[in-house]
Amino acid sequence: MIQISKPNIGQEEIRAVNQVLASGMLSQGVVTEELEKKFAEYCGTKYAVAVNSGTAAIHAALFAMGIGKGDEVVTTPFTFIATISPIVMLGAKVVFADIGENDFNIDPKEIEKKITNKTKAIVPVDLYGKTADYENIEAVASKNNLKILEDACQAVGAVRSGRKTGSFGNASAFSFYATKNIMCGEGGIITTNEKETYEQCRVFRHHGESLQKKGEYKNIGYNYRTTDLLASIALEQLKKVDEFNRKRRENAFLLSEGLKDIKGISVPGVTSSPEHVYNLFTIRVLEDFKTTREKLRDFLEEKGIKCGIYYSTPLHLQPAFKNLGYKKGDFPIAEKLANEVLSLPVHPLLSKNDIKYIIQTIRGYEK
Ligand SMILES: *Cc1c(COP(=O)(O)O)cnc(C)c1O
Repeated sequence: MIQISKPNIGQEEIRAVNQVLASGMLSQGVVTEELEKKFAEYCGTKYAVAVNSGTAAIHAALFAMGIGKGDEVVTTPFTFIATISPIVMLGAKVVFADIGENDFNIDPKEIEKKITNKTKAIVPVDLYGKTADYENIEAVASKNNLKILEDACQAVGAVRSGRKTGSFGNASAFSFYATKNIMCGEGGIITTNEKETYEQCRVFRHHGESLQKKGEYKNIGYNYRTTDLLASIALEQLKKVDEFNRKRRENAFLLSEGLKDIKGISVPGVTSSPEHVYNLFTIRVLEDFKTTREKLRDFLEEKGIKCGIYYSTPLHLQPAFKNLGYKKGDFPIAEKLANEVLSLPVHPLLSKNDIKYIIQTIRGYEK
């Protein structure tokens, strides 16, 4: 079976974990600090705060940016639920804006239509590993005095106009979950250039305890700490991520070249661009393809190729958010793409033969 993702663990990670085990310091300590320092350097930001998931990173960052009751936060309906659940947890209102058809990311023009006097922040997502349109999103934010939290959970290492993910907006959130481009099983990290945001994230991570006065709690926080065991894995992965991403891009290029002329299949464009780090390689199965997306997926899985549908239901149509009052037809592009997307394996451990096999299998589909 060719998996849709596969952890890429070498001797370096194993050695690093063993060192932490032998050190006796298993919870958050010096290795976590080292990860924060190196990760901030990698992104070109002043600060980073490591936490125990990408969801925790989004939650802490939005808290640190002051998002709370009565505020509106504009975001995309075409993402993983964890982009928006922290907005709800903080008591703020989720306001969706539709995505662009070309890159699956939030459309800056749609953001502008959704701004009211209660809007406080925008949460764009770098979906599948491709950066959102930050030139225009930052222009909308500065014109309207809004904060930006970049959900870069799928996009570590992507570069847009010379800037890396992690450096867009006021803060960025990353995930180290097992399927992400840097992974340690579970984990996350926030990057920012703002001292205040950095400090508030650290406070929120550790029960709301004041940084100045131990034992004093000005507000309630969570236990969102990570452990040095996991940080040691992420630290080794960080050293390798540029090579991982180079391999992902190369695989994406080969897949695109092999699939682009098939009638009814649309492949992601500009595959050599550093804007995209291909956490997922997502094609669109259009109406004029030989069969439906679901039948193609079942066929590929029968042939030993694991595929994924990210995401089959846009968030505005999820039962959990019924109370937001959205209905079918509200975000036509997100709804259309949700019916067309199919993600194929693209991870760095694929061989040239695996890629050839994926291409041949799709080309050979017969009704
Ligand atoms: C993975 C992911 C998250 C959440 O990260 P976890 O580490 O699983 O909590 C949030 N947003 C996006 C877009 C993701 O892909």
